Amino acid sequence: MSPQNNTQSPILTVKRVRKTYKLGRVKVPVLHGVDLTVRHKEWITILGASGSGKSTLMHLIGGLDRPDVYPDELASIVYGDRVITDMGASALNQYRSTEVGFVFQFYHLLPELDILQNVCVGSMIRYGRFGYGGHRKGVESRAKELLDRFGLSDRIKHRPAELSGGERQRVAIARALINEPALLLADEPTGNLDLKTGESILDVLAELRQSGGLTMVMVTHDERIAARADRVIRLIDGRVVEETADLSE
Ligand code: ADP
Ligand code: MG
Repeated sequence: MSPQNNTQSPILTVKRVRKTYKLGRVKVPVLHGVDLTVRHKEWITILGASGSGKSTLMHLIGGLDRPDVYPDELASIVYGDRVITDMGASALNQYRSTEVGFVFQFYHLLPELDILQNVCVGSMIRYGRFGYGGHRKGVESRAKELLDRFGLSDRIKHRPAELSGGERQRVAIARALINEPALLLADEPTGNLDLKTGESILDVLAELRQSGGLTMVMVTHDERIAARADRVIRLIDGRVVEETADLSE
C-alpha cells in the first residue's frame, strides 16, 4: 500500500541515520546521523562533494543497503507508515520493486537486451520468473508508452550500445518507472552527460513531476542542476547541514 497521497504529509523520514563501511579492519564512517524529511510530490536535490556520502544515502533510502545497527532507538528510515530499517529481506525486496524507482549515473542497462526488454526488467524482477508471463502484455504496453513519451519509440529493438548517453538515460528513467513507483531516486542522472543533454534529462524529470504523483529525490554535485528542484539540501561531512527553501523560481 502506498502512503497517503497528501502533499503536506511526509512520504519519507530519515532520522539520525549512520553508515560505516568496513574494509577489513578499517572502519570508514560516511554518514554521521542524517536527518531528512521528504514530502509527497516534492522534488528535492541532495548536493554534496564527491565522496560526501550522497550515493550511500540514496542506497539506504532505496533499500539497497542498510544503515549501521547501533543502540539508538530513534534512528530510522520511514516510508509512509512503514519502517524500512526494521524490514526483513522479503519486505525490503517488495518495497524496492513496488515503491521505488532508481536511476543511476551510468545507466546500468543490460547490453545484451534490447531497449524494450531493458525497460521491462524491473517488472520481471517484481513478478518473478513464473509470475511474469501473466503480466507480460500489460508491462510491454506500458514500456512502449513510456518509451514513446521519452521520444524513443523507434528505438525499441536497438541495443543500449547503439544509443547516445542522453537516450540511454531516458531508457533508464523509463525502466525506473515501469512499476509505477511513488518515489523516484536519481543518483547523478546527468553526471555523465554534457550540459545540454543533461538539461533535456531534467526536462523529462520536471515533466514527470508535473504530470503525476511522483516524489523525486535527485543527487548531484552541480549547483545549476540542483536549482531545478523545489528544495535543495546539502550533505557535508556525513550530515545534512543546510536545507534551502525553494530555489526553483
Ligand atoms: P558520493 O556519492 O557522495 O560521491 P559515496 O556515498 O559513493 O559518495 O561514498 C562516500 C564514501 O564512502 C567514500 O569515501 C567512498 O569511498 C566510501 N564508500 C562508498 N561505498 C563503499 C563501500 N562499498 N565500501 C567501502 N567504502 C565505500
Ligand atoms: Mg555518488
